[in-house]
Amino acid sequence: MAEINIAVHDRLVIGTEVFVPLLTEDVIQKRVKELGKQISEDYAGKAPVFIGVLNGAFLFLADLIKNVNADCEVDFFKLSSYGDEKISSGKVKLLKELNCDVNGRDIIIVEDIVDSGLSIKFIEELISPQNPASMRVASLLVKPNSLRYNVKIDYIGFEIPSKYVIGYGLDNAQKYRNLRSIYVLSE
Ligand code: 5GP
Repeated sequence: MAEINIAVHDRLVIGTEVFVPLLTEDVIQKRVKELGKQISEDYAGKAPVFIGVLNGAFLFLADLIKNVNADCEVDFFKLSSYGDEKISSGKVKLLKELNCDVNGRDIIIVEDIVDSGLSIKFIEELISPQNPASMRVASLLVKPNSLRYNVKIDYIGFEIPSKYVIGYGLDNAQKYRNLRSIYVLSE
């Protein structure tokens, strides 16, 4: 396999597909800082639990909480919906449960990307019966034109077109999560 450089590429050729830059590392980091500041203000005096959705959200969650000035805890769900495909299977499978008790806690669900909204809806339905004090959603990316479920995303990094993206946690058949920028599949 060809070696990839984790820094910025003008274009990234993967097999017969070409990906071009959509959001560079600087742009992502600046926005993550802003979101962290907003969350710090909104949760002043509280101790939120950040619940990351694996695998894609691991980098965003790590960078986000480095910018949150509050006592906080971290836990993870692991879901599977895409497999190695570029479109969602339309079914969500829970691969890892939470380990923390969310009863009475302020929960912030952290997603890499909201596409149809199915994963977020699935998670909200898992958490709600456990009676958290509050529940909000932070997603680095949202594809507004793909949303099919009625979900509210409280903290949005960027709204993007309904195209396939990779990098900064987002995979292509499990690879390329380590790219520092986000790339979009070019037509
Ligand atoms: P949803 O359940 O909202 O339809 O899809 C959310 C999940 O699908 C994300 O957590 C992510 O794993 C995957 N996903 C959605 N769009 C993309 C994309 O453009 N690229 C990649 N790599 N994964 C995506």
